[in-house]
Amino acid sequence: MSQVLTCEHIEPMLSGFLDNELSQSESQRVALHVKQCEKCAALLAEMKTMQNDLQAIAKQDQGHTQAEIDALDQLLNDTPSRWLGTIAWSLVVMGGLIVSGFFVYELGLTLWQDTTQPLWLRGAIAALYVGFAGLFIMVLRQRLKSLKTDKYRKVKL
Ligand SMILES: [Zn+2]
Repeated sequence: MSQVLTCEHIEPMLSGFLDNELSQSESQRVALHVKQCEKCAALLAEMKTMQNDLQAIAKQDQGHTQAEIDALDQLLNDTPSRWLGTIAWSLVVMGGLIVSGFFVYELGLTLWQDTTQPLWLRGAIAALYVGFAGLFIMVLRQRLKSLKTDKYRKVKL
């Protein structure tokens, strides 16, 4: 077995040498050869630079992505945008209820007062109003109940 290693033997081992993947004797042989051979030393230096560059790019990419994810998270979860969403939804629901309620009320009142309308229609409108009033009172009662319970809890704590 020849102990003399030529550049052809060393070159394929250079990347393994950089990554510490060679056995101790192999890496010793590579180190020894690189000390004596300018060509392989230059190649090793080039590979080292390339590896460092790749690592730097990978790190940069990761940092960039992580920063972007964090920024997006913050944007989606920060208090102002959550409040804005809640307020916007409340406005839509409230506005919709008020406008549709107004139209139902106006239309209902007109039909109710129009005695030429059939009795079943006037009866249905009356039922609708009574039903709405009932629902309103029920919701109000529930709100008051939960308010009382909240107060009670606060006192107890
Ligand atoms: Zn060489």
